Amino acid sequence: MSGINGKVIALTGASSGIGEETAVHLAARGARVVLGARRKERLDAVVERITSQGGEAVGLVVDVTRREDLARLTGEAVERFGRLDVLVSNAGTMAISPFDELRQDDWDAMVATHVTGLLNGIGAALPVFRRQRSGHFVNVASTAAYLVKSPQGVYAATKTAVKILSEGLRQESGPDLRVTLVSPGFTDTEGVGKGAGPEIAAELVRQRDEIAMPPSAVASAIAYAIEQPAHVDVGEIVVRSTAQA
Ligand code: NDP
Repeated sequence: MSGINGKVIALTGASSGIGEETAVHLAARGARVVLGARRKERLDAVVERITSQGGEAVGLVVDVTRREDLARLTGEAVERFGRLDVLVSNAGTMAISPFDELRQDDWDAMVATHVTGLLNGIGAALPVFRRQRSGHFVNVASTAAYLVKSPQGVYAATKTAVKILSEGLRQESGPDLRVTLVSPGFTDTEGVGKGAGPEIAAELVRQRDEIAMPPSAVASAIAYAIEQPAHVDVGEIVVRSTAQA
């Protein structure tokens, strides 16, 4: 199946920001979307936004750090819609801090969300994709995977892991699967600065408000990769505001 219309697409981190905009964009183009995130109310609001526009969506409370939650997400896609065409692994946390602050819980959360979370998605979707002899992993990294800037060391390292895991997966995927890495620059979402200390958060929000692109720009990039013919694998997309150095 090529294009977007009719595809069954599961997305993590779909309760706000890039994930929400991507879900709305894909559903508007005829995808049936299965949305995962931890905040049920926000997720319900996204499902309502989609269904009120005539789209098909279902939301599940999912914590990507839990292997069984990803299995439930992909399982729901197959049970409800008969298949899973795409898994967009987008859940993320930008709890950025200097090493000296020793915010080790935040370090752990970034590793668990971006690295373990991605692996949990691969573990849940790969057997489904192999059975179907088709499937597409879309993994959201960051421009921080290409250039580390202080104090983003841990965040950048985990997003670099997303990049490397995507390339490793692509090399093993064979002719039936596609793997796309999408790396956004500063994007205008509530996640920027969230969980960071007050000074860092204020600086990140200042930069966001000065140079960020809208999340719809990332949604379009993800849609571009998905809508290509089945034999075309868009490997990497870096998308940033022209104002970002
Ligand atoms: P948001 O904070 O708006 O979105 C993050 C999403 O991830 C939310 O839906 C959140 O939902 C979800 N999430 C976080 N942790 C978990 C978890 N453990 N399990 C399930 N869902 C989780 O920020 P963005 O939209 O900006 O971020 C989306 C992705 O884009 C992230 O991976 C981020 O690193 C990346 N990115 C963002 C950039 C930016 O400037 N905004 C730039 C480059 C990359 P909930 O809390 O309900 O679980």
